[in-house]
Amino acid sequence: MAFIMTSKCHRDAGESAIDARERRLLAPYAFPSRLTQGRRYPEPDHPYRGPFQRDRDRILHSAAFRRLSGKMQVFTGEMGDYHRTRLTHTMEVSSVARTIGRVLRLNEDLIEGLALLHDLGHPPFGHAGEDALQECLADHGGFSHNAFGLTLVEELEQRYPRFPGLNLTYEMREGQQTRIHKQESAQRPLLEVQVVEAADGIAYNAHDVDDALKLELVNVSELLRVPLVDGIVSRLKQEDPDLPTGMFRQEIVRKLLDLQIGSLVRHCLPFLERCGWQHPREPRESHFVVDMEPEVAAARRELAEFLYHRIYRHERLLAVRQRAQAEIHWLFEWFVGHSEWLPDPFQQRAKQVGLHRSVGEYLAGMTDRFCREQFRRYSEGRME
Ligand code: MG
Repeated sequence: MAFIMTSKCHRDAGESAIDARERRLLAPYAFPSRLTQGRRYPEPDHPYRGPFQRDRDRILHSAAFRRLSGKMQVFTGEMGDYHRTRLTHTMEVSSVARTIGRVLRLNEDLIEGLALLHDLGHPPFGHAGEDALQECLADHGGFSHNAFGLTLVEELEQRYPRFPGLNLTYEMREGQQTRIHKQESAQRPLLEVQVVEAADGIAYNAHDVDDALKLELVNVSELLRVPLVDGIVSRLKQEDPDLPTGMFRQEIVRKLLDLQIGSLVRHCLPFLERCGWQHPREPRESHFVVDMEPEVAAARRELAEFLYHRIYRHERLLAVRQRAQAEIHWLFEWFVGHSEWLPDPFQQRAKQVGLHRSVGEYLAGMTDRFCREQFRRYSEGRME
């Protein structure tokens, strides 16, 4: 109650508690809540949550967000229960992004919302599922998980009586939009959006190494071919020659995170502190990009190559990929031919966006497990 009263006092003085807090904490180049272009369907301000906090909560409470727990990141649920799901990846991205955002004095609420939103539109079975849906919908507008994330929050989530979707702020939707057309915009994305993009790569570079080592898809000696990892391991051996082999994995992952985040901060913070920008518009019109030091950025590319060839294209994952894609293709064709089996909301949706797109959206919303169950159910003719 005391907090609400404080908030009222500030408003009486012409400034809300949220605005006062942001004025104190955020850099002038950060995007403050008071500059939001608002929501498509106007709503009154909340007494003690800012617009981006509300966005974050709306995403967190959406059905699509909870389903991320049943969607694979790189490794399926059948491969064990240690590795990341799409949900825990999202939480790690949010954590890394907020760490960076706080150091750079950006808007953490906006960052957190963008991070929770960034993979919301991922279909079952990760990029394998996305590629399959892209093939299914090639003649019907294609499929991208980034675009589908927007469709979910603008149209498909039904949580409010007066509007479809989550009615997020313009900045949250625009941030996700820049993930769809990465190179095409005349302006750079907001710094908060760029931080989430960087945090995504930082998080998966580190956790995919962790998961692949744990699943024994690669071993530490193979990883030493990557100079970034070799450097980390050499330093670890110097610092602690008695480090048990079993601790290497955790130490490598911790150092990978630390090294990438530290490099990004060292690259960005000195520039941002002396650039003199007084408005979040200025970084958007500049050539500045949120990135790491050039030598670390180059070393990361070598790690990304290694991950691609040695992990993402590992034969155990290729087998998962082929099976998932075959099942999604089969389900797509089946529902297009038997639309009466689509849940009612997607039958209605088909009248609006066409049957193919509606079937694609239904499949994209599924968890890995539900998708597999549906495939078994219909392909084995068990419809009762
Ligand atoms: Mg991601």
